[in-house]
Amino acid sequence: MTSLPTPAPEEVTYCQRHPTVESELRCGRCETLICPRCLVYTPAGTRCPDCAKLRRPPMYEFAARDYLVLAATSIGVAVALGVIGALVLPVGIRGFLFLTLAIFGGTALGGGIAELLQRATRYKRGPAIQVAAVATLVGAAVIRLTLAGGLQLVAADLAVTLLLVIAAAVAWGRLR
Ligand SMILES: [Zn+2]
Ligand SMILES: [Zn+2]
Repeated sequence: MTSLPTPAPEEVTYCQRHPTVESELRCGRCETLICPRCLVYTPAGTRCPDCAKLRRPPMYEFAARDYLVLAATSIGVAVALGVIGALVLPVGIRGFLFLTLAIFGGTALGGGIAELLQRATRYKRGPAIQVAAVATLVGAAVIRLTLAGGLQLVAADLAVTLLLVIAAAVAWGRLR
């Protein structure tokens, strides 16, 4: 009479950092148990947070191509925004309603620019792309004022300046 082999009892393992999370995943470098909450994808495979820290996360690593694309995108967006801005936003626009709109417009614009630059650079972030976002906004402002009659007009242009400052702050925060 043959007996079926009894299956080995399933050994339940838990993530080392999250002791309540069942996991069989291990860091590809040190073999620490990791779970989807703490594992980090690197070009070399999945890593525990400690091993991942040994390398900078890929989203902070810029290749020469990324700098080129970033610069080209910034210039293109700055020119487009500057020209459109000169056409649709008269210098000296003012009033409580417009100040309110500047807050929402600035938030949307900053988020939009952050998204565009991230798409262009395969979702990079960090200082280079933050500076590019601010430079894009400053460039757009300079182009708009130049087309509208000169940079001295900035003094009469509080609402749009506010909009741009908000946009820069939003983009800066998103790209950190
Ligand atoms: Zn590890
Ligand atoms: Zn974990």
